[in-house]
Amino acid sequence: MAPVFQKFLVVFALPLADRWVQHQEKKILNEGRELSEWEVDWAHDVGVMDVSRVRIAIVPEVPTPGSAPLQFLAKLVGLSMKASGMALGHGIYVEAINATNPSLIVHELVHVAQYERLGGIRNFLREYLIQCLRDGYWDAFLEREARELALKYARPPER
Ligand SMILES: [Zn+2]
Repeated sequence: MAPVFQKFLVVFALPLADRWVQHQEKKILNEGRELSEWEVDWAHDVGVMDVSRVRIAIVPEVPTPGSAPLQFLAKLVGLSMKASGMALGHGIYVEAINATNPSLIVHELVHVAQYERLGGIRNFLREYLIQCLRDGYWDAFLEREARELALKYARPPER
């Protein structure tokens, strides 16, 4: 994809994505549960600074943006429309079937740390979109980091 088009896309989509993420974060911070003792440790391990602010909302399905432009963008970025988890600022959605999946929760905690490190929702989204459009979802640094740090929390495969 041409860099100019990428830039346009990010500029156009960023305010929409930003608004959606802020809305979801607020919801999760209001309705979600606090971290368990284990999860607090994991959050510290992966570098989350404001650990006591983090909330987790267990949901039947992780919500996706309803608006057409954001759905289009998600497809371009290669984001699966059926995510098992999603970090939105200090809020984390986890689908019920994965409610006790440590590696998924750690993966999302890494994203929370990235939101903090990059200076908030808008900065994180900008960087995330740029990386996904440029390098693809799988190779985006922010995804690679989350995957790698979560690796040691993975459960052994069930037999
Ligand atoms: Zn991720």
